[in-house]
Amino acid sequence: VIEVVAVDADDTLWHNETLFELTQERFRALVAPWADVEAEHLDAHLLRTEQRNLAHFGYGIKGFTLSLIETAIELTEGRIPASAIQTLIDRAREMVSHPVELLPGVRETVERLATTHRLVLMTKGDLMDQESKVARSGLADLFERVEIVSEKDEPTYRRIITACGVEPGRFLMAGNSLRSDVLPVVAVGGNAVHIPYAITWAHEAVEVVERDGWWTIDDISALPDLIATLDHRD
Ligand SMILES: [Mg+2]
Repeated sequence: VIEVVAVDADDTLWHNETLFELTQERFRALVAPWADVEAEHLDAHLLRTEQRNLAHFGYGIKGFTLSLIETAIELTEGRIPASAIQTLIDRAREMVSHPVELLPGVRETVERLATTHRLVLMTKGDLMDQESKVARSGLADLFERVEIVSEKDEPTYRRIITACGVEPGRFLMAGNSLRSDVLPVVAVGGNAVHIPYAITWAHEAVEVVERDGWWTIDDISALPDLIATLDHRD
């Protein structure tokens, strides 16, 4: 029987990645007059910078913006003007105040799950930004706990499961990232459901696929029924 259901937030409950993609597109246009580089080369340079900076600044808008600034300086060999840097900082402010847009079916699903299970919201990123998004989502009251963590790895899941006071087998995590929301949960003996973020992917039927120790669904609306099935397993 599943007692605690934890859900990821970014790209599981609300849109997130699209905002970063849009900002990255605008970044290419901003840098173009000062650096003669192909979009592909620029994206690859940015990705390397982001990966290098993760250990220093963590996930989220602030770390992303510092990586944009650093990439702009490096690719233009220092020619990027201060006014362009200011634009990047202004865009970071726009990103943190961008409206929280719930994915289809999220509110109904979370409300339904809250009547049957203890709910935990589990997300990583900037503390202030995530707290603000949780508050603005209108969903905060449905969760027993909100956990904003710096990394979603095995020790983190062990800590959260212990804090919830349940056996790993009674804990289920659902989210869009295999690496963060699924694999470490399965590794510590918990249950996991992968809900890929594919909003542009038009689908008609909701598909439930059993994987190697976890499940994949293509719509969060399928989560309550899947959990009900698991609850009746034993
Ligand atoms: Mg996510």
